[in-house]
Amino acid sequence: MAQRITGHTEMIGLIATPIRHSKSPMMHNTAFEALGLDYVYLAFDVAQEQLDAVVKGLRAMEVRGFNVSMPYKTEILNYLDEIDSSVKLIGSCNTVVNESGKFYGYNTDGMGYMAGLKDNGFDPVGKKLTVLGSGGAATAIVMQAALDGVAEISIFNGNDPFFARAEHNAQVINENTGCKAVVYRLEDTQRLKQEISESYILANATNVGMGALEGQKLIPDTSYLYPELIVTDVVYSPAETALLKMTKEYGCRTMNGLPMMLYQGAAAFKLWTGKDMPIDAVKAVI
Ligand code: NAD
Repeated sequence: MAQRITGHTEMIGLIATPIRHSKSPMMHNTAFEALGLDYVYLAFDVAQEQLDAVVKGLRAMEVRGFNVSMPYKTEILNYLDEIDSSVKLIGSCNTVVNESGKFYGYNTDGMGYMAGLKDNGFDPVGKKLTVLGSGGAATAIVMQAALDGVAEISIFNGNDPFFARAEHNAQVINENTGCKAVVYRLEDTQRLKQEISESYILANATNVGMGALEGQKLIPDTSYLYPELIVTDVVYSPAETALLKMTKEYGCRTMNGLPMMLYQGAAAFKLWTGKDMPIDAVKAVI
């Protein structure tokens, strides 16, 4: 590393808080090294009151770009000069590219989820998805899925402030894409069973299964499943949530949140460098 960094090395950053757990620096620096690209990727734990100064600083330093994570994915929109259709539909941004002083915003989270499905041999185009949740991750997934040709999305959210966002997301999808989205209450278990039985994929896009909610799941038992169903989770720590454990044991094919994380990074990498991320080299370190 000491010999790799020179006076020409360009910086790409990550701003968020908290951030020290992030796998992104490891992913991107491994990829830069594998391809011999003269960039370095650094994570910055940015306090709310410093966001403005940090973003202006990144612009002044002419960095190639940066990732944005929680809690700044929406606030960063105030600093962008141009936004991609992904940001327009999702309403938040996780990747900024600096083109000659202009900040272009993208959201690669949904692209990451869809690429992760493809990598696992799953193809939801023309099919139906049931998605649990309507926060940041869920919104990215449903918007990209709709843009990419998923035929129908049934969105379930509990009785909390995110329910209104679910309704908004469905409206945006129905007005802007060829996909048909419908919103239901998570408490409507009969409807949940029905929608899952018609779906190619059941996607948990809530934080149920991690942190304080580790060990919990939104699908109570296997009577909600059928063997050909694919079940995905946005959570990757733990690698196997209670939902994935139950559904895998029942016989469903499953995917955790790691491919989404990997491929959102690969999409950002491509935007900054124009190169494909060396996926196998990166998979080996995450
Ligand atoms: P968020 O706060 O924006 O949304 C949270 C969602 O979870 C909401 O829909 C909320 O209704 C639901 N929820 C929370 N607690 C619940 C409960 N007890 N019962 C039912 N529903 C509940 O969060 P987010 O940014 O969307 O993140 C959600 C999860 O996705 C987190 O675990 C995060 O780590 C993960 N994530 C993963 C990736 C990836 O690349 N794999 C990317 C982004 C987020």
